[in-house]
Amino acid sequence: MDCAKSLELLSEYHANSLEETENVFVRTHLTGCTTCHVVLEELNMILQATLILREADGISYPDESALWQRMNLSKKGAH
Ligand SMILES: [Zn+2]
Repeated sequence: MDCAKSLELLSEYHANSLEETENVFVRTHLTGCTTCHVVLEELNMILQATLILREADGISYPDESALWQRMNLSKKGAH
Protein backbone atom coordinates (compact mmCIF):
# COMPACT_ATOMS: atom_id res chain seq x y z
CA MET A 1 0.00 0.00 0.00
CA ASP A 2 1.38 3.34 -1.08
CA CYS A 3 -0.14 5.84 1.35
CA ALA A 4 2.19 8.68 0.40
CA LYS A 5 1.06 8.58 -3.21
CA SER A 6 -2.56 8.16 -2.20
CA LEU A 7 -2.45 11.14 0.18
CA GLU A 8 -0.79 13.22 -2.51
CA LEU A 9 -3.66 12.54 -4.89
CA LEU A 10 -6.44 12.69 -2.32
CA SER A 11 -7.40 16.34 -2.65
CA GLU A 12 -7.64 16.03 -6.43
CA TYR A 13 -9.53 12.77 -6.02
CA HIS A 14 -11.94 14.62 -3.80
CA ALA A 15 -12.26 17.37 -6.40
CA ASN A 16 -12.78 14.68 -9.04
CA SER A 17 -9.98 16.08 -11.17
CA LEU A 18 -7.73 13.04 -11.47
CA GLU A 19 -6.85 11.09 -14.58
CA GLU A 20 -8.73 7.81 -14.78
CA THR A 21 -5.69 5.68 -13.85
CA GLU A 22 -4.94 7.81 -10.78
CA ASN A 23 -8.61 7.87 -9.89
CA VAL A 24 -8.70 4.07 -9.95
CA PHE A 25 -5.49 3.90 -7.93
CA VAL A 26 -6.87 6.10 -5.15
CA ARG A 27 -10.28 4.42 -5.14
CA THR A 28 -8.68 0.98 -4.93
CA HIS A 29 -6.29 2.13 -2.23
CA LEU A 30 -9.10 3.66 -0.16
CA THR A 31 -11.06 0.41 -0.09
CA GLY A 32 -8.15 -1.31 1.64
CA CYS A 33 -6.65 1.50 3.69
CA THR A 34 -8.44 2.84 6.75
CA THR A 35 -5.84 5.54 7.31
CA CYS A 36 -6.36 7.21 3.96
CA HIS A 37 -10.11 6.73 4.23
CA VAL A 38 -10.11 8.66 7.51
CA VAL A 39 -8.01 11.40 5.92
CA LEU A 40 -10.54 11.68 3.09
CA GLU A 41 -13.35 12.03 5.61
CA GLU A 42 -11.38 14.68 7.48
CA LEU A 43 -10.79 16.48 4.22
CA ASN A 44 -14.52 16.39 3.54
CA MET A 45 -15.31 17.85 6.95
CA ILE A 46 -12.69 20.57 6.65
CA LEU A 47 -13.87 21.60 3.20
CA GLN A 48 -17.48 21.69 4.33
CA ALA A 49 -16.57 23.72 7.40
CA THR A 50 -14.62 26.10 5.19
CA LEU A 51 -17.59 26.55 2.89
CA ILE A 52 -19.92 27.19 5.81
CA LEU A 53 -17.53 29.69 7.36
CA ARG A 54 -17.12 31.40 4.01
CA GLU A 55 -20.85 31.85 3.68
CA ALA A 56 -21.35 32.79 7.30
CA ASP A 57 -18.62 35.40 7.62
CA GLY A 58 -18.16 36.60 4.08
CA ILE A 59 -14.43 36.25 4.72
CA SER A 60 -12.30 35.01 1.86
CA TYR A 61 -10.55 31.82 2.85
CA PRO A 62 -7.78 30.22 0.85
CA ASP A 63 -9.05 27.95 -1.89
CA GLU A 64 -9.28 24.24 -1.21
CA SER A 65 -6.00 23.25 -2.81
CA ALA A 66 -4.07 25.87 -0.84
CA LEU A 67 -5.76 24.67 2.33
CA TRP A 68 -4.86 21.07 1.54
CA GLN A 69 -1.24 21.99 0.86
CA ARG A 70 -1.05 23.80 4.19
CA MET A 71 -2.43 20.71 5.93
CA ASN A 72 0.20 18.56 4.26
CA LEU A 73 2.91 20.96 5.31
CA SER A 74 1.76 21.11 8.91
CA LYS A 75 1.57 17.30 9.01
CA LYS A 76 5.09 16.97 7.70
CA GLY A 77 6.26 19.54 10.22
CA ALA A 78 4.64 17.60 13.05
CA HIS A 79 6.54 14.40 12.37
ZN1 LIG B 1 -3.27 4.60 2.65
